[in-house]
Amino acid sequence: MLVDRLQGTVATPGSDAFEASRTAWNLTVTHQPELVVEAQSAPDVQAAVQFANEQGLTLTVQTTGHGQPQCAGGGVLILLGKLNTVTIDREARTAKVGGGAVWADVIGPAHAAGLAPLSGSSPGVGVVGYLLGGGYGLMMRTYGLAVDMLKKATVILADGSIVTASPTENADLFYALRGGGGAFGIVTELEIGLVPHAEVFAGSVAFDAGLAPQVYRAWSEWTHTLPNEVTSGTVLITFPPVPFVPEFLHGRSLLILTACSTLPQAESEALLAPIRSMAGAELDSFRWMPFTESATIYNDPVDPLPAIGTGALLTAFESDTIDTFLGAIGPIPQSPNLMIQVRHAGGASADVPTPETPIGNRREGRYLAYLLGVPMGPFTPEAIGAHGEACLQALEPWILARGPLNWVGEATVSADQIRGVYDDASFARLLEIKRRVDPKNVFSRAGVGIWIAAQKDSMSKDQGEPHR
Ligand SMILES: Cc1cc2nc3c(=O)[nH]c(=O)nc-3n(C[C@H](O)[C@H](O)[C@H](O)COP(=O)(O)OP(=O)(O)OC[C@H]3O[C@@H](n4cnc5c(N)ncnc54)[C@H](O)[C@@H]3O)c2cc1C
Repeated sequence: MLVDRLQGTVATPGSDAFEASRTAWNLTVTHQPELVVEAQSAPDVQAAVQFANEQGLTLTVQTTGHGQPQCAGGGVLILLGKLNTVTIDREARTAKVGGGAVWADVIGPAHAAGLAPLSGSSPGVGVVGYLLGGGYGLMMRTYGLAVDMLKKATVILADGSIVTASPTENADLFYALRGGGGAFGIVTELEIGLVPHAEVFAGSVAFDAGLAPQVYRAWSEWTHTLPNEVTSGTVLITFPPVPFVPEFLHGRSLLILTACSTLPQAESEALLAPIRSMAGAELDSFRWMPFTESATIYNDPVDPLPAIGTGALLTAFESDTIDTFLGAIGPIPQSPNLMIQVRHAGGASADVPTPETPIGNRREGRYLAYLLGVPMGPFTPEAIGAHGEACLQALEPWILARGPLNWVGEATVSADQIRGVYDDASFARLLEIKRRVDPKNVFSRAGVGIWIAAQKDSMSKDQGEPHR
C-alpha cells in the first residue's frame, strides 16, 4: 500500500481529508484525483511518483493552488505544502528552499540575514511555481527575474529518479525549469540567490479611477525617467464589498501606483516625489520598510478566492495605448475584471546579460498587463473571460506575447494561451526536453504548463500509451 511507503498521508474518495484537498487557493479549481498524497518529505514525493508509475496514473502537483494545477482527469494529486524548509547562507547570499515553500517562508529568514529574495507582490505564492513561470518580482528592474537567480534544483522525474539540474548538470532540464512551467518533474528543493535589501523604500499611492487617463499618462512618462533601481506598477481596481476589504473602500474605484526602490531613502523619495505629489493623490503608504512588509506594496488578496485572469507582455504603454486600453475596459466600476494591473518591466530583467531561458525572447517586454476577475454577482466566468480577451485584443498592436506563464491565466488556461507565451524555437526545445524527461506525460496531462500546448503539437502521436 502506498501509505506504508510514506511519512505523509494518503486520502481517498469519501474521506473528509480527500474532500478538503480537492480545493486550491483559486476557488474556481475543484480537483478530481483518484487519490491525494500530502507529502512530508522528498522521499514521499518519490514514493508517490513511483506508485503512479506502477499504476499508470498521471500526476498533478500543487503547492498553494495560485497557479494552474487543475487535476481534471483522475490520477494522483501531490500536495507539497509541507516541504517548506528554508536554509539561508548569509555569506553566499543564497537560500535552499523546499519545493513546497511559499515566499513568506523565505522572506523572514532572509531578512534576519540582511537579505531578500526576488519575490513578487504576494508572499503567499509558492516559490517553485512562481519561479517556474519566470518570476516577475518587486525588484525585477534592479535584479532581473527570479529565474535569473536560480542556481540549482533537485527534481524528481517522471520515472521516479532524482536528479540535480544546474548549469553544469542536466543543463537542458535546468533550461526548461527557468520559465517552462511545471511539466518536467517535481522540484523538491531549489537553491536561489538573494539580494542585500533587508529594507526598501516602497509602498503605494492612490487616485480616484476617474483620473485614470491622466494618472496612467503621468505614470507612463515617469517610468521613462526611472533608473533600474525602481520597479513600479499600477492597479486599477473596484473594491468589492467583502469582509477582507476595509469598509471605507467598498465600491470605490481607484488607480493605485506602486513602487519598490532599492536606492537609499533620500534618493528614493526624490525619485518618487513626482507621482506622490500629483493632484488627487491619497492613501500614500510610501515608507522605508523592512522587506518583511513587502505584501503591503500591492496588498494582494491573501485568502482563497475564485479568480479568472489573463495577461500579456507589452512593448509600450504610451498615450495611444492608454486611450485604447481604457476604451476597451469600459466604465471602470462595471468592469468584469475588477483588478487590472500594468507593471513596469525592462531594466535588469531585459538589459543585463541573463542566463539562457525559454523566455529569453520575451525580455523585450517593457510592461506587463494583467486582468483579473472574481466570478460573483453579474460577473460570470464567461463575462470575465470575454472582457479580458477584448481588452487584450485592443492592446494587440503593443503585445509582444501572451503571458508570461505566471500571468497567462489561472486554472482554465487554453492551449493557445500557453503556446503564445513562447517563441517557436523555445517551444520546440521545451517539447524536445519534455519528450526526453517525461515521454508518457505522467506530469501535466491534467493541465500544467507546456503539455496543454503540446496537445496541439505532434507530440502525442509518438508517446505510446498515455497514463490515465
Ligand atoms: C495573488 C497573486 C499574486 C501573484 N503575483 C505574482 C507576481 O508578483 N509575479 C509573478 O511572477 N507571478 C505572480 N503570480 C502568479 C504566480 O507566480 C503563479 O500563479 C504561480 O504559478 C503560483 O505558484 P504556486 O506554487 O503558488 O501555485 P500552484 O498552483 O500550487 O502551482 C503553480 C504551478 O506550478 C507547479 N508547481 C508548484 N510547485 C511545484 C514543484 N515543487 N515542482 C513542480 N511543479 C510545481 C504546479 O503544478 C502548477 O502547475 C501571482 C498570482 C496570484 C494569484
